[in-house]
Amino acid sequence: MSATATGIPEQAPASDRAWALFKALDQKNLIPQGYAESWKKVFEIDFDPKNGARVVARAWTDPAYRDLLLRDGTAACAQFGYTGPQGEYIVALEDTPAIKNVIVCSLCSCTNWPVLGLPPEWYKSFEYRARVVREPRKVLEEMGTTLPADTEIRVYDTTAETRYMVLPVRPDGTEDWTEEQLAEIVTKDCLIGVAVPQVPATTN
Ligand code: FE
Repeated sequence: MSATATGIPEQAPASDRAWALFKALDQKNLIPQGYAESWKKVFEIDFDPKNGARVVARAWTDPAYRDLLLRDGTAACAQFGYTGPQGEYIVALEDTPAIKNVIVCSLCSCTNWPVLGLPPEWYKSFEYRARVVREPRKVLEEMGTTLPADTEIRVYDTTAETRYMVLPVRPDGTEDWTEEQLAEIVTKDCLIGVAVPQVPATTN
């Protein structure tokens, strides 16, 4: 480790530090067999924004499920098996033509892992966390989402317990789509609320 001009030691990349920690714990036999591998699978495969997309598509096509999702998001997501760390208390925020919901964790980077997957890099940036609270309309515009001037934007800051997901408005032109087709247009950004589901021009 070398020192920078400011005297603050330069840090190795996070992946190197994680690997060094893993090796140190492993040498002391403190890591149970298969433990790291099982979490790798959870983070890389199980926690997938396609999960949230399925939840949204079901809510768009099944009014009873939509009611449950808005009343008890944790129970609704658990019906698909989407449970686990950072998904203990899920609250779904319903967009309407007049209201657009957006999620942030202004303190750090909390997200609803089982339903949204791990947070994107930009979600963890100081810039997003500070600016989306102050000027959400401008931040969304910069991210490619221009909302009508009279749409109210509500920014939800994640608390210690609550993990949000956005239930976007079902786009026009999808009336005869299947649940699977609908799930295809719901991205991680849509679940965070910085984007809205887009109907590809060719299928509209
Ligand atoms: Fe956080």
